Amino acid sequence: MADKTIFKRIIDGDIPADIVYEDEFCLAFRDVSPQAPTHVLLIPKQEIPSIGDLQASDQALAGHLLLVASQLAQQLDLKNGYRLVINCGPDAGQAVNHLHIHILGGRPLGWPPG
Ligand code: AMP
Repeated sequence: MADKTIFKRIIDGDIPADIVYEDEFCLAFRDVSPQAPTHVLLIPKQEIPSIGDLQASDQALAGHLLLVASQLAQQLDLKNGYRLVINCGPDAGQAVNHLHIHILGGRPLGWPPG
């Protein structure tokens, strides 16, 4: 389908990804253009374009994503800290319209972000 996002194509197995975690509700894979030594994207399997599109009925899913992000950071051995980033909309530079959490770590991360 021409209008599938790149992340939906990964969920559907149309294109490969370096998957580090999967369960019934979400999938995590390494970013193809890593901005830190560890850069993983965690996405819901449900097609939600951005965090701005979350509904009250998505509360359990949203909580699940945060819990998995925390567990993944441990699994990825980010003992010295890490950052979770959710870009939303053009000003934040969201490039893929499928909700995703960046998990970044393995080096000191500057603040404020660009
Ligand atoms: P954002 O700018 O927040 O929308 O982030 C989108 C991210 O998706 C970027 O960090 C890209 O490098 C990453 N990305 C795009 N295509 C792929 C892909 N096929 N596999 C893994 N990561 C991807």
